[in-house]
Amino acid sequence: MDKRVRVRFAPSPTGGLHLGGMRTVLYNYLFAKQHKGDFILRIEDTDQSRYVPGAEQYIYDCLKWSGLEPDESPVHGGSYGPYRQSERKNIYRSYAEQLVNDGYAYYAFDTPEELEKMRHDFKTESNPSPQYDHSIRMKMRNSLTLSDDETKKLLDANTRHVVRIKMPETEAVSFRDMIRGEIHFDTSVVDDKVLLKADGMPTYHLAVVVDDYSMKISHAFRGEEWLSSAPVHILLWKYLGWKKDMPQWAHLPLILGPNGKLSKRDGAKYGFPVFAMNWIDPKTNELTEGFKEKGFLPEAFINFMALLGWNDGTEQEIFSKEELIQKFSMERVHSSGAKFDYEKAKWFNHEWIKKSEVQSLESGVSFLLSEKGISDIDISVLRKVIGLVKDRCTLLSDFYDQSLFFFLTPEQYDLNAVKPKWNDAKKFFFSEIIRNYELNADWTATTLETNFKEITTVNSIKPGEVLLPFRIMLVGGKFGPGVFDIAEILGKEETIHRIKKAIAVF
Ligand code: GLU
Repeated sequence: MDKRVRVRFAPSPTGGLHLGGMRTVLYNYLFAKQHKGDFILRIEDTDQSRYVPGAEQYIYDCLKWSGLEPDESPVHGGSYGPYRQSERKNIYRSYAEQLVNDGYAYYAFDTPEELEKMRHDFKTESNPSPQYDHSIRMKMRNSLTLSDDETKKLLDANTRHVVRIKMPETEAVSFRDMIRGEIHFDTSVVDDKVLLKADGMPTYHLAVVVDDYSMKISHAFRGEEWLSSAPVHILLWKYLGWKKDMPQWAHLPLILGPNGKLSKRDGAKYGFPVFAMNWIDPKTNELTEGFKEKGFLPEAFINFMALLGWNDGTEQEIFSKEELIQKFSMERVHSSGAKFDYEKAKWFNHEWIKKSEVQSLESGVSFLLSEKGISDIDISVLRKVIGLVKDRCTLLSDFYDQSLFFFLTPEQYDLNAVKPKWNDAKKFFFSEIIRNYELNADWTATTLETNFKEITTVNSIKPGEVLLPFRIMLVGGKFGPGVFDIAEILGKEETIHRIKKAIAVF
């Protein structure tokens, strides 16, 4: 590659970051790292009516949590700033004027009422919602229909106006998409998009081209929903004289939910997260759940997202971020929609929890327990507990149920599992266990198990008959890791205390 790789994620701060957006982040990040290039975060906040307080900070938080931080951004800095479009307002007007002077755009002075009238007057059965396009522009009030003098007068008087692109009546515009190959458009169906709004702010169309150019973006990856805007952007690159610097494009496939495009509503309906992190809409206070809070590890989040539309051509499914950086290729991304399967996403998380080092889970688990009022845990105990139960946890939140009994003596027992078969022989057996364990100097799972078995033999009891009651004494229910491992961690005093307490209840 001859040009330095510089890619960008360009979200508008209008709300939570859903899976589609996060996958765009990921593909940008992987591509940049693979090519030792730069990953830029640009905040596209030119539409002030859609601005949502807190949304920009939320984007940083999501990128940080998932470990996909940019090299350049409004907060990380960089040599191509400002990285917030609202702070670049003055840059765009001169380009809009250049386009007008070169005949590729025009000033339009139509009032909202005049636009409404146009939509009404030109409405036909075959064209129910007429657009401001080549067939209509000459019937409107703009610098193409007014004389130069009239236009100048209106501009001098600061008359409200916009700048519109003059889309060619019929021109074939084509470009090569890294995923979809050669794409052709016919400009006749594209309207004269506004480039500069009446408030002096650029629209997305102008801003994205000017910024990709001035930030020296080499590759632009974005969601499929932007494909229909591509001809406008391609023409702007050409009209501004920058065609040879145009980035290579890739339009990423949609992420599909249970019925069509994955939506925030699917999350609420089916009970799975669609945002990276919890998002509370500041207007409605409505909470949309995030993968983080649901108990996903960032490693798993990245891993399953990478496979939403890409694979390396083998059966491999588990990839670390480093492997993805090595193996990812945009050419292997499918153009068809990628189905999001929550059960599969959980499977990835389970695999990653199993693979994780105990130490890396420590802070997450102790935070989880402390939120539920269990704190001041001895760190060596916590590590042993995590090591014992992690293979049983699909979500981080499962650590709570799976390890609670290590820290709290059960208050309730699954009596149905014990009572019907409880008898004096078993009661006697456990009193023998207490006697033996009290004298036991070597409090390890192996010794505890050996002693336990010996006592069953002496008392002619099958180990299978007393193991379940023993588990229920220590845990409260029919779950958890090896019961002697549990006893080892609980320690002598607590184990004996639990046996005594349970015998009194059984
Ligand atoms: N601001 C656009 C968005 O919110 C970015 C599209 C692009 O990457 O060109 O998705």
